[in-house]
Amino acid sequence: MDIRSQVAMVFHLDKCIGCHTCSIACKNVWTDRKGADYMWWNNVETKPGTGYPTQWENQEEYKGGWVVKDGKLQLRLTAKGKFLQKIFHQPSMPTMDEYYEPWTYRYEDLFTGPEQDDQPTAIPISKVTGEYIDIEAGPNWDDDLGGSTLYARNDVNLSALSEEQRLQLLSIETLVMFYLPRICNHCANPACVAACPSGALYKRGEDGIVLVNQKVCRGWRYCVSACPYKKVFYNWSTGKSEKCLLCYPRVETGQAPACFHSCVGRIRYMGVLLYDADKIQAAGLRPDAELVTAHRDLLADPNDPAVIESARRNGVSEQTLQAARKSPVYQFVKAWGLALAPHPEYRTFPSLFYVPALGPVTYSMENGVALNPTSVDEIFAPLDQARLPMAYLANLFGAGQEAPVRYAMKKMLAIRTWKRAQTVGDVDMKLALAGLREADC
Ligand code: SF4
Ligand code: SF4
Repeated sequence: MDIRSQVAMVFHLDKCIGCHTCSIACKNVWTDRKGADYMWWNNVETKPGTGYPTQWENQEEYKGGWVVKDGKLQLRLTAKGKFLQKIFHQPSMPTMDEYYEPWTYRYEDLFTGPEQDDQPTAIPISKVTGEYIDIEAGPNWDDDLGGSTLYARNDVNLSALSEEQRLQLLSIETLVMFYLPRICNHCANPACVAACPSGALYKRGEDGIVLVNQKVCRGWRYCVSACPYKKVFYNWSTGKSEKCLLCYPRVETGQAPACFHSCVGRIRYMGVLLYDADKIQAAGLRPDAELVTAHRDLLADPNDPAVIESARRNGVSEQTLQAARKSPVYQFVKAWGLALAPHPEYRTFPSLFYVPALGPVTYSMENGVALNPTSVDEIFAPLDQARLPMAYLANLFGAGQEAPVRYAMKKMLAIRTWKRAQTVGDVDMKLALAGLREADC
């Protein structure tokens, strides 16, 4: 056993209102500089949607993270990346178009600026491939300019539809979206650190925050290529890589990072986790379908005497151990099974977890009016009738497996029904309590 402490996070997606206050707070503090102007260490993307940089989840294009090869964990690079690495010692990276060119916001333009073409439009179909996604559809296209259920639906062949049919499918009844705020995950097994040939990227021993030493960075940019979440950025002015530093100067003085402090929806929780570093390599080799469990297995019980002894041997302070015992992150992830890591199949073991978004819950409708549940089955009906297909959420959080996502969603539905019974009082309390039991609450 080799217990290390890690600052970890939970974002509760059902509470995010997509106001971008977190992104602006971060930009004002850290990236309002020459060469960093295009960077969003914290960004909030509308899902289902293309994200920032565009299509970062498309690992065929942007590979990163780890892959199991010959029974070992190996960094994953694109064929193009490997070629560039060999010839020019440069990895492949997203282009500036994919990050979106920075622009200056001027308040007066709201009143005096010329009319632009940013009007609600049909789904942006790529002129080249005929598919839905193209880089014109920015990270918030779905709520800025339209609405989409279609990206998540593989039963709809968009290019075969007429314009009228597409607009029909975009009607309000089928519209669905949620917000996904993203920062660096300060992973337990960070691919960015492993990829750096200069040793500039490192993971701090005391709290697991992943940082770039600006004096040591030589601008090779392998970190940009290796991070599957595309959360390391290249500063074209200084010639060095930069990334979220979890506001460590604030954290060290007992303050929350700027994005946490400013969060309007209060969706962000921070706490200490105790990781078993001995298990990381072994856990990374497990099959995709086991990676959520593998991740949970890495988290050690802060009340276990053997864990405490190993942590003390590694220099973890009593104060940190106390924080680990009270950690909301441990509760959300391990005790309740409510929060999941994004894309566990990248195998970096993120320290940022998300409570999946329930989205609009409708138990049943009559003449356009939503009805409350009258049976336990009805409480959980939205699991199969949700506008956002479970397969989409499972892909985001469960590496193609639905079970852990369903488990979390079921609990959320039961809790929501119980709260409704408690506060509004139009759901039978006995029924709500039966729902809680059924959902393992
Ligand atoms: Fe590194 Fe952060 Fe990317 Fe993880 S999310 S690989 S820690 S830059
Ligand atoms: Fe969401 Fe909070 Fe950011 Fe607003 S400040 S977009 S509520 S995470």
